[in-house]
Amino acid sequence: MRYDCVIVGGGIAGLQAAIQLGRYRHRVAVIDAGDGRSNLCRCYHNLIGWPEGVSGSELLASGRKQAERLGVHLVHARAVKAAKEQDGFVIETDGNEHYAGDRLLLTTGVKDRLPPFSELRPCLGISVYVCPDCDGYEISGKRTLVFGAGKAGAEMALTLTHWTDDLIYVNHELTAIDEHTRENLERRQITYIERKVSAVITEDTVFKGVALDDGTVLEAGRCFVALGGNEVLSGIGAQLGAKLLDNKHIMVDPRTKLTSIPHVWAAGDVTVHSEMATIAMGDGSQAAIWIHKSLMEQAMPANSVNMTATH
Ligand SMILES: Cc1cc2nc3c(=O)[nH]c(=O)nc-3n(C[C@H](O)[C@H](O)[C@H](O)COP(=O)(O)OP(=O)(O)OC[C@H]3O[C@@H](n4cnc5c(N)ncnc54)[C@H](O)[C@@H]3O)c2cc1C
Repeated sequence: MRYDCVIVGGGIAGLQAAIQLGRYRHRVAVIDAGDGRSNLCRCYHNLIGWPEGVSGSELLASGRKQAERLGVHLVHARAVKAAKEQDGFVIETDGNEHYAGDRLLLTTGVKDRLPPFSELRPCLGISVYVCPDCDGYEISGKRTLVFGAGKAGAEMALTLTHWTDDLIYVNHELTAIDEHTRENLERRQITYIERKVSAVITEDTVFKGVALDDGTVLEAGRCFVALGGNEVLSGIGAQLGAKLLDNKHIMVDPRTKLTSIPHVWAAGDVTVHSEMATIAMGDGSQAAIWIHKSLMEQAMPANSVNMTATH
């Protein structure tokens, strides 16, 4: 079957776009590997309608159901290759299957660089966080440990002083920080420690602290991870020749989410500094609206209605 649109990445942006395109009654396939940031986050706190928060897995499960009810075809696979063909694109998966579409939407997201301690996983979004805009509020007035590296960790600690003045920054990778940053940490009374973490202490979903390689135990009820160096998953876009920024985000038109390649859109974290579920949802819808316009313009080239007049 040939699709009107193939979406690579079925996280927040991809599923929201699929729902929007499904409601235009387009034929849509979503290819998703199921290991994105929305699979990691155990609790989103800043979404309208969810005052107590909602887990990424719950949101995705309900989004997948909603998309399937609209006839969207969900494929559990990893896209490994993208090729332009005369009238569209073909995506090849790791299972060696091929999905052809007239339009392509890339919503592959970002891969966080997390410390190699599996105990942190159940705490993500509950007592261990990565994004101050999302979860800074959750540490209000609470002792918080920044599990970081170099300048990325220092900047995170300084940012968090907006919510708490009880901060410890552990520079786990011992990456050098400049004198000016050190002075800033000191001025804001952030405890700064240059040592490796040897163990993470948690109880179920509750972060309790860390042990350092010299045996010191640091107790804290909240943790922010800031190692820097997250990987932007823009490989499929790069294969097609889409323009990337220096940090590998896919460049898109801010209004339409169209990439530098005709008929290829991108939305969510893989694009220029989105990195929040709320924004990924909006981006996904926005891309879908313009994909629809583009499909309609192709179907009705002489249409007197100006498809770009709204939005
Ligand atoms: C711990 C944590 C807490 C967070 N808390 C909040 C919060 O409270 N509020 C908030 O607004 N945001 C929060 N975020 C950020 C939010 O999760 C992301 O902004 C959001 O998930 C971005 O959506 P996305 O669709 O762009 O990417 P994702 O949700 O990461 O989805 C991308 C999907 O693409 C798939 N994929 C990647 N490559 C391929 C490929 N080649 N083939 C097939 N599939 C592929 C992945 O498996 C994944 O399912 C948090 C993130 C983390 C990690």
